[in-house]
Amino acid sequence: MLAPVTTVKDIELPGEALLRRFDHPGPRYTSYPTADRFVEAFDAETFAARLAKRGDLASPAPLSIYVHVPFCDKVCFYCACNKVVTRHHERAAEYLDALQTEADLVGGLLTGPRELEQLHFGGGTPTFLSNAELAQVMAMLTERYPLAKNAECSIEVDPRSTPPDKVRTLAELGFNRMSMGVQDFDPQVQKAVNRLQSYEMTRATIDAAREAGFVSVNLDLIYGLPRQTRAGFSKTLDRVLELSPERIALYHYAHLPERFKTQRRILAEELPPSAEKTQIMLDAITRLTEAGYRYIGMDHFAKDTDDLALAQARGRLHRNFQGYSTRPDCDLIGLGVSSISKVGPTYSQNVRELDEYYDRLRAGGLPTARGVMLDRDDLLRRAVIMALMCHFEVSKEGIEAAHLIRFDEYFGRELEDLRAFEDAGLVEITHDWISVSPKGKLLVRGIAMVFDRYLRQDQRLRRYSKIV
Ligand code: SF4
Repeated sequence: MLAPVTTVKDIELPGEALLRRFDHPGPRYTSYPTADRFVEAFDAETFAARLAKRGDLASPAPLSIYVHVPFCDKVCFYCACNKVVTRHHERAAEYLDALQTEADLVGGLLTGPRELEQLHFGGGTPTFLSNAELAQVMAMLTERYPLAKNAECSIEVDPRSTPPDKVRTLAELGFNRMSMGVQDFDPQVQKAVNRLQSYEMTRATIDAAREAGFVSVNLDLIYGLPRQTRAGFSKTLDRVLELSPERIALYHYAHLPERFKTQRRILAEELPPSAEKTQIMLDAITRLTEAGYRYIGMDHFAKDTDDLALAQARGRLHRNFQGYSTRPDCDLIGLGVSSISKVGPTYSQNVRELDEYYDRLRAGGLPTARGVMLDRDDLLRRAVIMALMCHFEVSKEGIEAAHLIRFDEYFGRELEDLRAFEDAGLVEITHDWISVSPKGKLLVRGIAMVFDRYLRQDQRLRRYSKIV
């Protein structure tokens, strides 16, 4: 039995009927166009040319670097990340050499300022690296790309490989934000997903982070995991709230064993039924918002005092491959296997396989596998989609002035499609604004999808193939 519609803070939970009607699978819009639209015609040469052009602009965007560390000690069965599971820690040395080669190749081409506003280590498990290796890679990067004053340096840590002494090392190296996976504290769930991580271990990492001066700690939770129940997840939330992280991400587990091999080790019959899963999510949102967390958008919650919530209140929130960001829209260089870059009006992604990554670098080339050069329409639609995802509203006039169009004419079909959302009370469309209502916030992805030209083309193609 689902709970009635509830209003918590500035988000109103939609009822089951609305969720069923408007919550369709779709992109998370950490980029637009989304990564599945990248093409191989955008290759290493195109990326190199773009790096060299960066300095031509009167005011190039500030710089950000993402470093992907693909290794993990153990596999979590729900995982859909690009990772290499190994107990051979010596494999890190070859990888760090390759990262250095890539940082040099990029550095040799990149024009424009190279001071870093943001640095993010993700994975895989960056804390697979030893303290000495972490120091080595930080020194290698900051020699080439110095950190700006007040730079945001974040790292994804696994409490199972991040005892307090490692946290202190991370702080000494300049990291000031951390994110860690918890998913669920219930030992039965942890067993079913092969991730045993006690509350005490997690607490020790967080306490050490606070003592060492980290300004923000994020915890990742997942609903929809095997053996999860409303009662069990409620206890997890009790413990999460005791830990009082500045930010919480609450993700949905999508069981796609045909696509992700490790998910085949999850027993489908142990997954919570769909109605229970929905209720776990609604319970969690209610608990978190009642405890003072603000729903920032798409899976993310933050305390009102956290930078993310403050940036949203000031209209300065951005969305990037790590979720949400408080920094200006940076040029992003992704280093490491499978990492994604965003430089000027382009996105590009490195090769996904470790051997190919090493081969490309050994041959003296950038490991770019594919990418996309945004055209005028992409840029315009990206601005609309990002405004919806970050601020739940779009100023038609703002878009018209920045992109020299007449909004209602350019987006005639989209506005027509939005009528269904408007009739259901999920958006409000006025002469000047499109605003997502408190009830529509949880469904913002579906609203953003209306503006995605590529999805529209797919739908048309699907319709064609049905007719044929
Ligand atoms: S969830 Fe994280 S730690 Fe677990 S296998 Fe995936 S990348 Fe590794």
